[in-house]
Amino acid sequence: MRRMPTVPPITRAPSAPTTTLGYALFATRWLQAPLYFGLVAAQGVYVYKFFNELWKLILRCVTGQATETYVMLAVLKLVDVVMIANLLIMVIVGGYETFVSRIGLQGHRDQPEWLSHVNSNVLKVKLATAIVGISSVHLLQMFVDVHHTSRHSLLWGTVIHMAFIVSAAILAYMSGPMAAHAERAPQQAHHEHARQEPEEKVFVPAQATARDDEPSAEERLRAARFPARKLLEDFDAEHPRSFDRDTMARLGKLDFLATHRNVVFVGPPGTGKTHLAVGLGVRACQAGHSVLFATAAAWAARLAGARDAGRLAEELAALDAHPLLIVDEVGYTPFDPETTALFFQLVAHRYERASLIVTSDRPLGRWEEIFGGPSASAMVDRLGHHAEVVRIDGDSYRMRRATSAWAD
Ligand code: ADP
Ligand code: MG
Repeated sequence: MRRMPTVPPITRAPSAPTTTLGYALFATRWLQAPLYFGLVAAQGVYVYKFFNELWKLILRCVTGQATETYVMLAVLKLVDVVMIANLLIMVIVGGYETFVSRIGLQGHRDQPEWLSHVNSNVLKVKLATAIVGISSVHLLQMFVDVHHTSRHSLLWGTVIHMAFIVSAAILAYMSGPMAAHAERAPQQAHHEHARQEPEEKVFVPAQATARDDEPSAEERLRAARFPARKLLEDFDAEHPRSFDRDTMARLGKLDFLATHRNVVFVGPPGTGKTHLAVGLGVRACQAGHSVLFATAAAWAARLAGARDAGRLAEELAALDAHPLLIVDEVGYTPFDPETTALFFQLVAHRYERASLIVTSDRPLGRWEEIFGGPSASAMVDRLGHHAEVVRIDGDSYRMRRATSAWAD
C-alpha cells in the first residue's frame, strides 16, 4: 500500500530573514506568560477574600447577630467573589491558550467545554457576559439593601448594568453571527440558492443495495486506491483548534452521497483533510459504494489523457459508475486554463448527479489563485453549490509527533 503523500515542508523552513524576524516577533508572546501567573496570584487573593467573608458570616450567625438581609447580602458577596474568580480563570486559561501557547488539555476529563473553540472573540463575549453576571449580583445587593442605598447609587447602578448588558449583546452579535458568516459564506450563498429550488429529489438510501455479483467491501477498498486506509474513528477531533464536529458527524452518515452533494475540506497542511476524505471514502466503500481516490494532479493527468485520446465524454460517463470521487490536494500546484477547463467538465458533469470530495489548503474564495482561465469561477460555483464546506484549523498533526512525523 502506498503511504500518504508528504506535504512539501515549505511552510516549516524559516530560511528567509523576514521569516526569522517574524518568528522572533512571534516568540515575544512568551513575555505575556508571567502576566497570567500574576493573575493566578490575584486568584489566590480572591480565595483569601472568600474565606474571610465566609468566616465573618458564620461568626455572625453563630452569635445570633445575623439578620435575614445580612445573610442574603453576605451570600451575594460570596457569589460575587466566586464569579470574579471564574472570570479570572477564564482569562488565565483562555488567554494563555489563545495568545501564548496551547495547554494541551485535549482529552482531559475536566477540559472546559468552551476551551476547545476559544478564540479572542469567544473570550470577549464570555468576559462580557461574566461582567453582566457580576453587575447583576451587585445590583441585587443594592436592591436587597435598598434602605441603605442612595437613589443616586441605585440609578447609576441600574444604568451601568444596562450598559454592560447592551455592550455584551453587541459583542455577542458581532462575534457570533459574523464569525459564522465568514466561515460559511460560500455555503450560505448557495443555500439561499437551494431554497428557491424544489427539494423533492428522489431519495436514494445511503446504503447501496448489495447484489451477489457485486464486489466485496474489501475489493471496493482496494479499487478505490486510497493512499492509506484512514478511518473516521481514528480521527482525533480534539486536535484541530477549530473543526465542525457536528457537520462531520452528519457527513459520516453518508447522506451527502444520496443527495449528490459535494464535500470540501479546507485547512492548513497536516490538519487531517486527506484523513477525513479517506475516512468518508472508506465508509462509503463499506456501505457498498464505489469510490475512486486520486490527487488533483493525478485527476488532471487522467482527464488530459482522455481528452487527448478524444474520449473525454466517455471517460466522464465511465466515472459515473463511482458515486464518489475524491480529489485530494487541490491547490498544491496551480492549473493552466486547459486543465481548469477539464476540472470544470468533471464538476459540471457530476453536478447533482454524483458526489465529489475535494481537499484544499485554500478556501473556495481563493481558488482563482489555483485555477486559471474563464471556466474557473463557473467551476467553483458548481462545486460549491450543494457543498458541505468543512473548515479545519490548527497545527499540523505531523508536527505533534515530531520524531515520527517525516516518516508519514
Ligand atoms: P492534510 O490532508 O491536511 O495534509 P493528512 O490527512 O495527510 O493532512 O494528515 C497528516 C497525518 O496526520 C496523517 O497520517 C493523518 O492520519 C494524521 N492526522 C491528522 N490529523 C489528525 C487527527 N486529528 N487525528 C488523528 N490523526 C490525524
Ligand atoms: Mg493531504
